[in-house]
Amino acid sequence: MPTIKNNISSIQVRLQQALRDVGRSPDEVLLLAVSKTRSTKQINQVLQAGLINFGENYLQEAIEKIDQFLATGLDWHFIGPLQSNKTRLAAEYFSWIHSVDRLKIAQRLSAQRPTTMKPLNLCLQINIDHEPTKSGFSPEQALAVASEIAELPNISLRGLMAIPRSRASLAEQRVPFARLRELKDQINTRLDNSLKLDTLSMGMSGDMEAAILEGATIVRIGTDIFGPRDK
Ligand SMILES: *Cc1c(COP(=O)(O)O)cnc(C)c1O
Repeated sequence: MPTIKNNISSIQVRLQQALRDVGRSPDEVLLLAVSKTRSTKQINQVLQAGLINFGENYLQEAIEKIDQFLATGLDWHFIGPLQSNKTRLAAEYFSWIHSVDRLKIAQRLSAQRPTTMKPLNLCLQINIDHEPTKSGFSPEQALAVASEIAELPNISLRGLMAIPRSRASLAEQRVPFARLRELKDQINTRLDNSLKLDTLSMGMSGDMEAAILEGATIVRIGTDIFGPRDK
């Protein structure tokens, strides 16, 4: 039976191969372990394999886990839908929020981030395939609000995140990721030097290579680390 440790080793091999394929250096991508629905025992196994960045989708579940690992110094990333009445807890517990999909959410996170903590890292979630069922800014909306968000206090606007619809081939998978990269470049032309975006959070178990080929700096991997999730 493949263990979590073996799974992580094979992901590292795939990840490094994809980086080499496009001439990027080995440390350019952060492997984020998506631990939603997984137990603290499983998280411990990931930790023992050397990963310290974890992604969670559900606030209450996440907080219970974060509290259990407080002494360990892990970095927790919120990647799920965020309601505005939950922003305070998100601002207090996480290092990163990948799923900012409204200006109001960014403003609340900025106001509620404790000033004793480092600035909260934010990514704007982009609805890159314009799917009615998915949350996220349209590319046009993101272009319009990025400067305003980047200038908020107590946060650091780091980049863009997307969850494209699934596509069959590597070539097709690359298309929405390339669009996200171009949007980041476009936004950067409008931002002051000190505020430029450096992060593309894109690529999951099924499309990790395509995302890396197009410049991903954070890949969010659940299934290929932990195995299939219970339905
Ligand atoms: C669940 C989830 C992932 C991980 O997906 P896998 O296909 O299991 O790798 C990544 N990003 C987001 C936003 C998720 O909700």
